[in-house]
Amino acid sequence: MGNCFLLSYGMLHVVKNMILGFEQLLYPEFCPACGKESPPMGAKICYYCEAVLAYTDHHKVRENGFYKRLCGRLPFEAAGALLYFSKGNRTQNIIHAIKYRDKKKLAVEMGRVHGSLLAKSPHFRGLDMILPVPLHYKKKRIRGYNQSAKYAKGISKVLGIPYSDKILVRRHFTETQTRKTRSERFRNVDTVFDVKKPERLNGMHILVVDDVLTTGATLEACGRAILTKAENVRLSFATLAMAKRF
Ligand SMILES: [Zn+2]
Repeated sequence: MGNCFLLSYGMLHVVKNMILGFEQLLYPEFCPACGKESPPMGAKICYYCEAVLAYTDHHKVRENGFYKRLCGRLPFEAAGALLYFSKGNRTQNIIHAIKYRDKKKLAVEMGRVHGSLLAKSPHFRGLDMILPVPLHYKKKRIRGYNQSAKYAKGISKVLGIPYSDKILVRRHFTETQTRKTRSERFRNVDTVFDVKKPERLNGMHILVVDDVLTTGATLEACGRAILTKAENVRLSFATLAMAKRF
């Protein structure tokens, strides 16, 4: 009886995969960046978009636009975004797919792309740990995952250093930041983040990871929480995208 159950469960699995395969043939997944072409087998983005995405090349220049946005606000080593974000561009489409269309694997894949560039960079050396900016549990419950943690996972795989979404945590809920003015956003994030068992981070070079850099207030607040709680740490920052204007 037990074997019979296992067999039928196995069969169900096969049938489910066959249906998914047919679905893919009937309704091919379009590239999330352009919405037109189909990505090649095993890829998440089409060849054309991969070539023309708005890469920042921040990994090549220490004092890049990202670095300048945070400079003087807290001590850190290096900072960089993978892509520029502007209204209606391919980056915005990718971010939208990651945040609202359940494209978890796309977030991991983009993290891998960024990780391979960071591995070549002379500025992001000696990283020990990757910490994603935590999502509030209410948002996580709605979305089912933290997109920044998925991005961190992709970077972690390529660089071969661990990431954890259990160390840097949120204290309490802040209302959706998008409707607030810039100064309100700055005030709002100051007491939001906390570090669990901060002694685990002592002496480490930590990469704090988020999906989009706008004012830098969120990364600054995360960085401050880490610097306050842990001893002898160095910080660097990486995001999938950076808004040139906000
Ligand atoms: Zn495309």
